[in-house]
Amino acid sequence: DLHRALDEKQFELFFQPKVDIHSGAIIGAEALLRWKHPTKGMISPADFIPVLETSGLIVDVGHWVIEDSCKKLQQWIHQGIWKEGMCLSVNLSPRQFRRETFVDEVIDVLNTYNIPAGALDMEITEGLVIQRVDDAIATMNQLAKRGVTFSLDDFGTGYSSISYLKKLPVQTLKVDQSFIRDITDDRSDRVLVETIISMGHLLGLVVVAEGVETEQQLNLLRELGCHHYQGYWFSRPVPAQEFEQKLPSQPEQKKQTAAAE
Ligand code: C2E
Ligand code: CA
Ligand code: CA
Repeated sequence: DLHRALDEKQFELFFQPKVDIHSGAIIGAEALLRWKHPTKGMISPADFIPVLETSGLIVDVGHWVIEDSCKKLQQWIHQGIWKEGMCLSVNLSPRQFRRETFVDEVIDVLNTYNIPAGALDMEITEGLVIQRVDDAIATMNQLAKRGVTFSLDDFGTGYSSISYLKKLPVQTLKVDQSFIRDITDDRSDRVLVETIISMGHLLGLVVVAEGVETEQQLNLLRELGCHHYQGYWFSRPVPAQEFEQKLPSQPEQKKQTAAAE
């Protein structure tokens, strides 16, 4: 079924807003892949991305994700709802990232859709760079020259996070949602998140918390100095049209009751 999915346009990108924790303004989004299966309905990426990866189909689908993201970006910029400084993140797969033609293909898409520097961000995981760190750094640097930024996703779940942090040209750290989940009642999770945030500050990185579901979590993260957040509390990932409707009315202040500064 996956072999046919791309041709039959069964993939769709959903967008989850990234929000400034102090102002409550939407400062960008993460593009998340969805598969609308003709009979089984919506299938989660966690269930099909491993299959795409082992079959090699991820190369084409991953390219489609980047191209469709850039199409949307171009449209939003044209409509004036995507402001300068906002940034759209896409997720990368190891196999996609390690292809020799990856850099050229991405730059091609960026040029085709006239994407300004700073508008596209790529989320990588440690698993993606773990085998050949120097090659990964070279790839990232080439894309950085064309204005692509990088975020380290699922931070804290890997093996040697701190050594990678020092080596990789990333601007952003995404604190994994497994640490956020119990942050209000688990002291060690709270200490871990606090440590990650202050380390991010010291290294000059932007820190994003993922999976924020409650106001209590949000308030605590704000106190701890986290910069940005994503999560169901603000919005689930939504189809493009629904996301666009959230954009023009920003800065979005609702739900930021404790943001008194
Ligand atoms: P991820 O990159 O860590 O993405 C965050 C996941 O957390 C998303 O799941 C998102 O829907 C979910 N999420 C967001 N806010 C909350 C919240 O408040 N609570 C909870 N419980 N979950 C929240 P999703 O969309 O099912 O994606 C799962 C994973 O699939 C992603 O994890 C990412 O690793 C992968 N993925 C998604 N899209 C792509 C893609 O285009 N390419 C590649 N290579 N991987 C992708
Ligand atoms: Ca991600
Ligand atoms: Ca993540």
